[in-house]
Amino acid sequence: MTSAGRFAPSPSGELHVGNLRTAILAWLFARSTGRRFLMRVEDLDRARAGAEAGQLRDLAAIGITWDGGVIRQTDRGPLYAEAISRLSAAGLTYECYCTRREIQEAPSAPHAPQGAYPGTCRDLSAAVREAKRAVRPAAVRLRAAVTEAEVQDVLHGSYTGVVDDFVLRRNDGVTAYNLAVVVDDAAQGIDQVVRGDDLLPSTPRQAYLASLLNMPVPEYAHVPLVLNAGGARLAKRDGAVTLTDLAAVGVSVDQIRDRLLASLGLPAGRLEHALAVFDPAKLPRDPWIWPGMGGPGA
Ligand code: GLU
Repeated sequence: MTSAGRFAPSPSGELHVGNLRTAILAWLFARSTGRRFLMRVEDLDRARAGAEAGQLRDLAAIGITWDGGVIRQTDRGPLYAEAISRLSAAGLTYECYCTRREIQEAPSAPHAPQGAYPGTCRDLSAAVREAKRAVRPAAVRLRAAVTEAEVQDVLHGSYTGVVDDFVLRRNDGVTAYNLAVVVDDAAQGIDQVVRGDDLLPSTPRQAYLASLLNMPVPEYAHVPLVLNAGGARLAKRDGAVTLTDLAAVGVSVDQIRDRLLASLGLPAGRLEHALAVFDPAKLPRDPWIWPGMGGPGA
């Protein structure tokens, strides 16, 4: 299988300029290294009717091209189930009956990092499990043998973060993102993952899981996010931040694309022009504050 990069949006609504900037970067990283570029819709959770079509339309409008068809995670249940079965057969999973609240209120295990699952359900007896299962459907957690792992990132260098007994399948039966992303990246031959750096803290979990499943760990590049004027992650409520909203205040797709490229120190025009001079070493390392476009004061 030839190597590939990807963009993997969650179809929870319209993409905003921050998402589009990350997509441009993922495309530039892949294309500048001769990789294929794949589009995967992460619709296991938070999918909103019509959002996928709108997102793909906006990505195409900004100049992103992808190879082959669009993959949807909701079509791939058997693949995720197979991976979880393999882990279970190796004794690497257990059922968890905790509510969110119970987890928050549980005393954390000694030396456990902040935010790690406290291990409440790790070593229950069969009888206790049976009783708990009758009350509440179980989630499936990974039985992790480590508490942290190190990954290499093109922009961040070496990064060490928490690995806990994270959820593989939620108690409503939905596959968890951390499992799906690892299985899909491997199955699709994705060996370069470029995404927002809000996902860097999840990456050690994913790399560890990939190693347990004998799947290759991809190259990672976690790119800086776009923030609002207050320094928080850009969101829909920050005014005109989608192609639709910006069109309504008279800003064209080409103007938006050029503004995003300029924020990356890249030349205006078709993405192919940016591709010709793209150099990851020259990328800004700090978040970009969205200056607004089109509206009063922008
Ligand atoms: N679906 C995730 C998101 O939209 C991205 C996951 C990834 O790139 O690994 O935030």
